[in-house]
Amino acid sequence: MRDQPAPATRAITAGRRQQGSSLAPPLWGASTWQTEGLDDTRKRAVDMRPDDFYSRYANPTVRAFEEAMAELENAEEALAFGSGMGAIASTVLALCSAGDHIVAQQQLYAGTLAFIQGPCARFGIEHTLVDGTRPGAFAEAVQPGRTMLVVAESPSNPRLDLVDLEDLGRVAGPFTLVDSTFATPIGQRPIDFGVDLVLHSATKGISGHNDATLGVVAGARDLLDAIWAYGVLHGAAPSPYDALNGIRGIRTLAVRQHHQAGVALRLAELLVAHPGVVAVHYPGLADHPQHALACRQLLCPPTVLAIDLRGGLDSARTMMDGLRLVRCATSLGGPETLVCHSASSTHVSLTPDEQQRIGITPGLVRISVGLEDADDLIADLTQAIPVS
Ligand SMILES: *Cc1c(COP(=O)(O)O)cnc(C)c1O
Repeated sequence: MRDQPAPATRAITAGRRQQGSSLAPPLWGASTWQTEGLDDTRKRAVDMRPDDFYSRYANPTVRAFEEAMAELENAEEALAFGSGMGAIASTVLALCSAGDHIVAQQQLYAGTLAFIQGPCARFGIEHTLVDGTRPGAFAEAVQPGRTMLVVAESPSNPRLDLVDLEDLGRVAGPFTLVDSTFATPIGQRPIDFGVDLVLHSATKGISGHNDATLGVVAGARDLLDAIWAYGVLHGAAPSPYDALNGIRGIRTLAVRQHHQAGVALRLAELLVAHPGVVAVHYPGLADHPQHALACRQLLCPPTVLAIDLRGGLDSARTMMDGLRLVRCATSLGGPETLVCHSASSTHVSLTPDEQQRIGITPGLVRISVGLEDADDLIADLTQAIPVS
């Protein structure tokens, strides 16, 4: 066997430290634990991430999810939260103070962008937005001594733009963070490129069944300890029930991800030739402007693609109304194939100018490929897209 088993194997073996001979992780629903008296209470109260004190501090089921995620990301540690936004807000506020500066990619999940532009600005944390696809853009915007954090997202929502992770890993000074939700740990491992922190909305592909709201950040232990110490006060603690669904999702993640990515590539290749489609945004396509970068850093292509419809908003409406199998919903990575119109859902809070700048056109439709039969879902999508 190789020195390090393949990701698909690690997805099965990871996070089992505390489950004895049970094949499935036990569900610890407890919010609190009984102690042996005053001295024992004190010991647990001052411990880092105690396993048996109070669930906002740590919980054994959540711990199993965190340990599995750390292993899959090649990170020392991981820390889970009640949502992806809980992970983002807690991490940013743990690391940044009034007067600090953040460099962020303009192609970000709209909630992350709104958090940086709204609450962070209100607390005196300033930011500069850059085009994350341009090599060197992050480093150029760093203000030495002031920039505390660089926030990137790759592949980005909704157009699957890529950030060069090697380039990001070389940025000196601030901590670097990648929202890797669209890749999952099966699709890329940013820590291997020297990035400090990798973050996921595990609500998406990792849990994978649209039944858990969960976030996670992974990286070096000392950094994670600092985020934990702040996170206990911020309170975006994950539910052990959701963490259980997170572990269950990890067990089947590799097979789901590879299957969904294969169908996404097939769909992308077909839609390029569809008369109603002006552009297909999918880095797995050979003529995508970032295809070479995708080959260098992605271990598996994404399961999501975005298409730009010739007829703009009207065509997007016709398409979404005409679907029979595929559903309209704003999430991704689950068993059901989903479409969403970014300009009127995930990015509705942006002005038309801001939408334009990051390529969110009126005809842009994001498709998250699910687990239905490939021919069935391809037939449904191609019949629904108007030809005009
Ligand atoms: C969904 C999503 C988030 C937010 O995660 P929640 O679990 O909904 O809070 C953050 N980043 C990306 C890329 C996402 O897709």
